[in-house]
Amino acid sequence: LLVRQEGDEILFLNELRHKKGTALTLLLPITETLPAGRAVSGDTRPLFGVDYRGIDVVADGAPVEGTGWYVISKMDATEVQAPLRKTALLTLLAVLFALIAAGVSATWTWTRTARAADYLLREQEAARATAETALGRNEERLRLAMEATSDAVWDLNVATGLAVVNARFYTMLSFDEGAWPATLETMTGLMHPEDSPSAIATIDSMIHGGAASASFETRLKTREGKWKWVLSRSRVVSRDETGKATRIVGTHIDLTESKERELQLDRYRLHLEELVEERTAEARVANHHLEATNEELAALNEELQANNEQLDQTNEELACVNEELLNSNEELGVLNAEVTAANLQVESINTQLAKASRAKSDFLASMSHELRTPLNSILGFTGILLQGLAGPINKEQHKQLEMVNHSGLHLLALVNDILDLERVESGAVELRLLELNPAALVSSVVGTLGPLAVKRGLQLVSDTARAPKCITADARALEQILVNLIANAIKYTDSGSISISVVERSGDVLFEIRDTGIGISAEHQRTIFDEFVRVLPDSRENLGDAGGSGTGLGLAVSRRLASMHGGRIDLTSVVGEGSTFTLILPMTDYRA
Ligand code: ADP
Repeated sequence: LLVRQEGDEILFLNELRHKKGTALTLLLPITETLPAGRAVSGDTRPLFGVDYRGIDVVADGAPVEGTGWYVISKMDATEVQAPLRKTALLTLLAVLFALIAAGVSATWTWTRTARAADYLLREQEAARATAETALGRNEERLRLAMEATSDAVWDLNVATGLAVVNARFYTMLSFDEGAWPATLETMTGLMHPEDSPSAIATIDSMIHGGAASASFETRLKTREGKWKWVLSRSRVVSRDETGKATRIVGTHIDLTESKERELQLDRYRLHLEELVEERTAEARVANHHLEATNEELAALNEELQANNEQLDQTNEELACVNEELLNSNEELGVLNAEVTAANLQVESINTQLAKASRAKSDFLASMSHELRTPLNSILGFTGILLQGLAGPINKEQHKQLEMVNHSGLHLLALVNDILDLERVESGAVELRLLELNPAALVSSVVGTLGPLAVKRGLQLVSDTARAPKCITADARALEQILVNLIANAIKYTDSGSISISVVERSGDVLFEIRDTGIGISAEHQRTIFDEFVRVLPDSRENLGDAGGSGTGLGLAVSRRLASMHGGRIDLTSVVGEGSTFTLILPMTDYRA
């Protein structure tokens, strides 16, 4: 046992074999019979006494130097006396046997008795040796116990401030054993600044305030400068006469692991709470969605029902329509047969029309040829008569002959135009597309028609500065179109000017013939490109050749020639202000 005195009582360090929960808690009064009481009172001789159970024991005690603790070794008296009692009984039996035998010699009896006494003494000596061995073992055990424990143990002498500590006291904080003197000051100095005030107050309450024990958690600084949580438990083991504690023992239990577990648990709990919150929020959102979806579904359902009703109705209507369609199908079948028959008719009419058209073309071509020969001789002979080569003619005859000549010329122009149109329409005209200079062509046409303009008192100007250098076109056809358009401008302009410009735009060449003439109404602009269409105000009918004669075929031929080039003729005009005809041709062969 390890015990120490605490005032009038004895404190037991060990757990007692026959009484549980006694370590550092059991306090027994010091009595003469209690072996521990005798030992702490300074009597460390082997003795017979009565232990805490009230049982006779043989005991021995010794102080553990420098600690105030005593090691007590004890053995139940019954165990010690058993051999003695056995010997005494044998002795008694021997004496009785000697008396009864009455012949046994006294010397032999004495020797036997002495031997028994000697045996008893040796037994007692053995018991003492056993007690001493046990004492040594207990001292060793105390040391081993202090060293083997995973906790730091300290025993503070309040007066000196010095503490007796085990190696763990230092190693728990990663210091080498004995790295610094173990004092109350160094201990509190290692505490975290936030913990030390209350810890110091607690220790002070034990030293001065009469508190018997204390227990608190604190952070202690390790050699690496980290903080380590420890549970500090301590107990006052002695006080002086004024009540001030003189000795305090205590332990430090490393709480790092449990603190970490606590922190981890806190983290888990926090994470769990966050997860729960997250899931709750998600569930809430999902719920909202679900509600919204439910509402939408309900609305959809209603719509579906309405649609269904409509569908039913439509189905009925469709059934009626189907019947009608069946009827119509039959009718269509009949109609189809009729249409097929009509188509056959149309086809045969088309064939006839094509034949008729060919016949017309042939007729016009041959007729024109046939007409030109007598016309040329009419004109020739009229010319001879007008020049007086066939004898003198009077004024009236001259006038009549001029009218014949004029009509002949008109007829010839008409025949020529018809021939042109016919050749273009029948595909007899083939374009000879060559590269030519548009400015040169315009200048040649202006040169030809210039005298006519001068005769009509008109200005004829051309601007070919921005004209492209080269275009691909049929020179004869292009000249025919330009002559037609410029001659028309001169013909239908009474005063002012005719200007011609040639420009290039987006891959096209534009020949613009602008006049300040009589203009064309919007209604007539749509028809003047048709064959034989002429629109002349009555006032122009008497202007003669220069004023208004024509065949109504010039524009029709011009438009066809332009379209053969892949081009067209545009027209803008205001009645009384003038017209602008624009011939637009692709600059290169559009068929390439
Ligand atoms: P023609 O000039 O021989 O009558 P065209 O086919 O050349 O036949 O012209 C058809 C008609 O278009 C003309 O009769 C005329 O009424 C009208 N026309 C043509 N050019 C002009 C113009 N520059 N200004 C006004 N009218 C025009």
